Amino acid sequence: MGQCYKVSVIGGGTAGLVAARELQREGHHVTVFEKANRVGGTWLYDPRVETDPLGIDPNREIVHSSLYKSLRVNLPRQVMGFLHYPFVKKDGGDPRHFPGHEEVLRFLEDFARDFGLMDLIRFEHEVVRVELVDEVSHEWVVESRTRTTESKWESKEEIFEAVVICNGKSTEPRIAEFSGRDIWPGLQMHSHNYRTPQQFENKTVVLIGNGPSAADILREIAPLAKQVHQAVRGPNFKFKKLEKHDNAWQHSMIECAHKDGKLVFQDGSIVYADVIIHCTGYKYHFPFLKSNGIVTVDDNRVGPLYKHVFPPCLAPWLSFVGLNYKAVPAITIELQAKWVAKVVSGELELPTQAAMTYSVEEFYREIEKKGWPKHHTHNLLYNEVVA
Ligand code: FAD
Repeated sequence: MGQCYKVSVIGGGTAGLVAARELQREGHHVTVFEKANRVGGTWLYDPRVETDPLGIDPNREIVHSSLYKSLRVNLPRQVMGFLHYPFVKKDGGDPRHFPGHEEVLRFLEDFARDFGLMDLIRFEHEVVRVELVDEVSHEWVVESRTRTTESKWESKEEIFEAVVICNGKSTEPRIAEFSGRDIWPGLQMHSHNYRTPQQFENKTVVLIGNGPSAADILREIAPLAKQVHQAVRGPNFKFKKLEKHDNAWQHSMIECAHKDGKLVFQDGSIVYADVIIHCTGYKYHFPFLKSNGIVTVDDNRVGPLYKHVFPPCLAPWLSFVGLNYKAVPAITIELQAKWVAKVVSGELELPTQAAMTYSVEEFYREIEKKGWPKHHTHNLLYNEVVA
């Protein structure tokens, strides 16, 4: 075992719990800040929706989880567990290979309890500032706030030697852009604020997107809705009837929206709709991180980060766990957390700052050469292709 440090972990979802466990195994003194009153992050279903259904008002009260009520996992449980801690069926639990979301929450709670992590977590503590105060001794101030009454908050500043950011990546909506979006009179919302299908009964709904959320929501609302139309980006998507439903069609992307409720798609088809649901993914968001511009989010690229985890000039004292997507989350997060814990303790060495910087630049050049959009930087499927 190497050197032990005072480490702060931000977030008590999958990434934060696994990071806490790995850091603790290395002997570090770990404090996890979690703004909710339970562990689980995404897997903590919240029936509330945000006041701004599109999720663009910066002053809205944020609801963290994007789960819908009926959600079942889209990966088999066999790949959702951790090394030496599999996601097995339990007495009284949901025995399916693709269980409902409640089963994942139970698994994470068991994980936290079995490894004694609950004592490390400050529940109902939201981190509002992370800032480097001393570069040489790598001192970070972590300011957190907790509610004392309905309208009062108490803030506290503490010093840590390392910070691991695990605040999740599926809370801040990305919205589709099209002409007339802001004058269109119907309801527009993001899938982040979709919970149940009832409100779409007898409505004509347009879903934008082609990912798992669009597929799940389409399947769930089609039996109740008057019509469902899916708008999909890309040259291969044109107007056609969707075979599995009597009342669902696919279109290319929305070209423009009109004041009278008309939507014109790029393939020339026209629909008068009541609702648009943007199933268009999420943006990375670190409102608490004050890094003097060293780490930025540019077109959904968090950078510069060596292998998606360490900013070269702040490594290993600042790290990110769980940024990748199109990856199996559990194993990716666990390997990143193990790497962070061992690099912080000095058990593993990173390349020099210059070598890490060069590697990141080389990676960006490769992305550009292949013509992949910048916002796919953390798409691990793509990373395999360029590796
Ligand atoms: P989160 O689970 O989001 O946890 C982040 C935590 O940080 C939260 O608890 C939050 O409260 C806390 N936090 C945020 N900001 C602060 C702050 N400032 N201060 C203190 N605490 C803070 N993965 C699968 O493996 N299988 C699936 O079937 C699957 N389905 C999914 C379906 C949906 C709809 C979504 C959105 C995701 C799905 N995922 C699935 C991916 C899933 O999000 C990851 O597997 C994993 O749970 C992400 O964990 P995380 O810890 O990175 O983030």
